[in-house]
Amino acid sequence: MCFALMLALLSSTSTFPLSAQTVGSKHFRTQRLGEGVYVVLPLAGTRTVCNAGIIDTGTETLLIDPFVSEEAAADLRTAVQQLTTSPIRYVITTHGHHQHGSGSGISIPEARLIGAPAALASMAARSASPLPTMALDGRLTLRGPLRTVDLIATGRGHGTSDLVVFLPAERLLFTGDLVVIGMHPSVTDGEFAQWTSSLRQLEALGPDVVIPGRGPVGEGDDLRAMACYLQDIDAMTRAAATAGKGLHDLTTIGVPMTYAEWEHPSLFLENLRSWFTRLRSRTR
Ligand SMILES: [Zn+2]
Repeated sequence: MCFALMLALLSSTSTFPLSAQTVGSKHFRTQRLGEGVYVVLPLAGTRTVCNAGIIDTGTETLLIDPFVSEEAAADLRTAVQQLTTSPIRYVITTHGHHQHGSGSGISIPEARLIGAPAALASMAARSASPLPTMALDGRLTLRGPLRTVDLIATGRGHGTSDLVVFLPAERLLFTGDLVVIGMHPSVTDGEFAQWTSSLRQLEALGPDVVIPGRGPVGEGDDLRAMACYLQDIDAMTRAAATAGKGLHDLTTIGVPMTYAEWEHPSLFLENLRSWFTRLRSRTR
């Protein structure tokens, strides 16, 4: 179990100082992480629930996960114009869940949409994006006068395929929903072994700053915290199965103290049920 480690990590989540060089809209606020690097955080009470990112290489700007709606994405496009001097050339989708990427339906001249093949396929099935696509099934390095950016497809994990964005000089990592901070993740489409393996791969990058798919900016230890959560869900469901418990019996398992302060507590039981059902289907 990972509860002890989690207790230590709960007090370590960093809060980056806000900078004067930020802009916002009714959908989000921006937080500067360095010259030409921003996390875009959703505002409560809006349909926008996931984090987006802005990275300026000095000649080109990358837009990461442009939100759930084209209206919010259009505001994000305007924010980029105010915050950077480089045109948007790449829109990055970290995975195929619609809350992160449906805003890529907006028109951005000369930009292309980059994602793992499965993510692009699920986005294409939902709606057409006017952007030409580029499937990434490995690693792509973009270099500019300000910085180097690594796009890394990590395979199946939280979604059917995930892609992260790493700034090696700044040791700054955008994870998509492979990591969420301060809230329960959704594991419905997750594959725990591969998800955990991806988190180890990301730990090996040695990031100092972790920008999760949801929640505040964190640090490298938050990768371990996410792995511990998956380990705990896995252990609890396996223990229930070994004890001959059924799906209905999972309602008697309360949220552990370690996660008592996390948002979206109803997801805890949902995650137990989802993983229990998956494990049971594999043993039949
Ligand atoms: Zn997701």
